[in-house]
Amino acid sequence: MKTAKKGITILLKTGILVAAALPQVQSNAAVPPGAQFGSGNPFYAPSTLPLQAPPFDKIKDGDYQPAIEAGMAQQREEVRGIAENPDPPTFENTLVALEKTGQLFSPELEKLQEIEAPKLAAHKDAIFLDSKLFQRIETIYKQRESWKLDAESLRLVEYYYEEFIHAGANLSEVDKAELKKLNEEESTLSAAFSNKLLAATKAAAYVTKDKSALAGLSETRLKGAAQAAKDRKVEGYVIPLQNTTQQPDLASLSQRGTRQAIFENSWNRAERGGANDTRDTIARMAQLRAQKAKLLGFASYGAWKLQDQMAKTPEAAVKFMDALVPGATAKAVAEGKDIQALIDAQKGGFQLQPWDWDFYAQQVRKAKYDLDEDQIKPYFELNNVLENGVFYAANQLYGISFKERHDIPAYHPDVRVFDVFDADGKQIALWYCDYFKRDNKNGGAWMDVFVNQSKLLSTLPVVYNVANFTKPAPGQPALIGFRDVTTMFHEFGHGLHGMFANTMYPALSGSQVARDFVEFPSQFNENWATYPSVFSHYAKHYQTGAAMPAELVAKVKKASKFNGGYALTEVVAAAELDMQWHTLPADAPLEKVDDFEVQALKSKNLFLSTVPPRYRSSYFAHIWQDEYAAGYYAYLWSEMLDHAAFQWFEEHGGLTRANGDRFRQMILSHGNTEELGKTYSGWMGGEPSIEPMLKFRGLVPEEHGK
Ligand SMILES: [Zn+2]
Repeated sequence: MKTAKKGITILLKTGILVAAALPQVQSNAAVPPGAQFGSGNPFYAPSTLPLQAPPFDKIKDGDYQPAIEAGMAQQREEVRGIAENPDPPTFENTLVALEKTGQLFSPELEKLQEIEAPKLAAHKDAIFLDSKLFQRIETIYKQRESWKLDAESLRLVEYYYEEFIHAGANLSEVDKAELKKLNEEESTLSAAFSNKLLAATKAAAYVTKDKSALAGLSETRLKGAAQAAKDRKVEGYVIPLQNTTQQPDLASLSQRGTRQAIFENSWNRAERGGANDTRDTIARMAQLRAQKAKLLGFASYGAWKLQDQMAKTPEAAVKFMDALVPGATAKAVAEGKDIQALIDAQKGGFQLQPWDWDFYAQQVRKAKYDLDEDQIKPYFELNNVLENGVFYAANQLYGISFKERHDIPAYHPDVRVFDVFDADGKQIALWYCDYFKRDNKNGGAWMDVFVNQSKLLSTLPVVYNVANFTKPAPGQPALIGFRDVTTMFHEFGHGLHGMFANTMYPALSGSQVARDFVEFPSQFNENWATYPSVFSHYAKHYQTGAAMPAELVAKVKKASKFNGGYALTEVVAAAELDMQWHTLPADAPLEKVDDFEVQALKSKNLFLSTVPPRYRSSYFAHIWQDEYAAGYYAYLWSEMLDHAAFQWFEEHGGLTRANGDRFRQMILSHGNTEELGKTYSGWMGGEPSIEPMLKFRGLVPEEHGK
């Protein structure tokens, strides 16, 4: 399953925000007086490297923050210049001018982004609630038919207008003041939620001095738990909590009491009363968001949030999720029965509880598939997977090729850089990969860009993929599991979305699309990992070169769908919960969080004693902290698009250049230059259907004889 981190970092969606948020690679405008650029700050000068790649050999840690702050100051100057231009507004002097305010540059800046987030929020309001600037944009919007613009430019006009309206630009001054107040309160509450949750999660770690309580853990994990205790200066062992309800060690801990204790620590982490209890904070956030939506003219926060998404309305998203519930829960219940049968066969003498699920599911998995990770890893040597799997599939589909280069500086020795060439030999992009775990690196996997493609700015995309695979000992090959293989294909799918971008304006370029569309190219690209001609091309033993035996291949494919009922149900439950919090009316009272949650799940037949939601409301950081409010459904929605698209490929000859080129031309190169539903149905020749997803997930009876 994907986490927030696995997706693209969409901290700042619009071009102008991105430009303001992060240092510029290109310097399009003079640095304003008082800007904080030191003379030695490499962000001051445009990069002279190929494709304006960042000069990582010259950038020091201390260069980022001053450059971001100077970038914001610079952009305010530029925007003021545009807003106060005495000439009447034109497409060129307003929108093209805004687009030229700069290009994105963002390496590992998560920490800094957090520090800068409140300043950026204020910066955003300052631009989007600037009435002079909005007047110009509104004038252009109203006259748009008379400007004789090409389709993409017309889209840019509509895009900016909608973004400004979305942010509240057409409100009265009184309402704007009210909105700013609500925005401010929301960001304060969100920051408070983050701090409380961080402290609550830390405090809820499982601590024991009794080694036998941890029976079942591997030696490596035990060492990890001992080290975690040392780091915290406590005796014994510490098992810290991850952000999900289920915890990874529950799959191997054989003491039932330990499992229950860890699970309950997780489930109740933010509901223990006292300073770190998040319930009052989120109840107020939900209410405040509903009030904000009303001010902006919408029935709910979800309705406001989804207007520029592919689903368009909460009703459409909910209808889609509701259709997943019966199949998902029926499958989860059947999986639970298999587990109970195993517990009974072992004379356990108890009813299955959520803290037992993963422990016994592992045993069922082993009994059913007899798949040992160590057996398959020798067939997945990282570099081989990359060149003969990921690159190979892209070459077969799109005709592109890759050549590693060693003369472009990277920010760490593990990072590799590749030229990407089109079928005609012309360079189209630079692609970086940074695959190995490091101590100071954020967890998960993601894609982002250093430079956005834009014809207006004459830039080609500079794109990077990040993951957290285990680094092999020096001189040893990196042998990875099949999950990691899938991650490589996934992130590379985002990468292709960035690299194939072919648009005029940076704000509409590449993967800067709606949240419920952005995971489509990446999830779609995962399909090639198991596609027979691709799989057999890369899944070869790293020592002998022998192909993976057919029976092992079959096991890998089957086992990857194991426990699918549970996995889908916990995600649907979280997604439905998110949407219910964000479709409250503005006059709803402050909700009692636990009652609301139980009611919400019950109303959707998702209140299952053994399958809790992936995140409980009180620690659902995606929606209270990470901008996934009314947006968690997007992972599932994108998956529907992915399976429907792959079925289209299968019905049209599968992996062929013709299919690939058509997909690239009609989907991957389009960015946000037209309404995404139109882009998709234009390519597909119809609306996406949920059937292929249900079928892939095994939620409808298999058709026979086909
Ligand atoms: Zn993703």
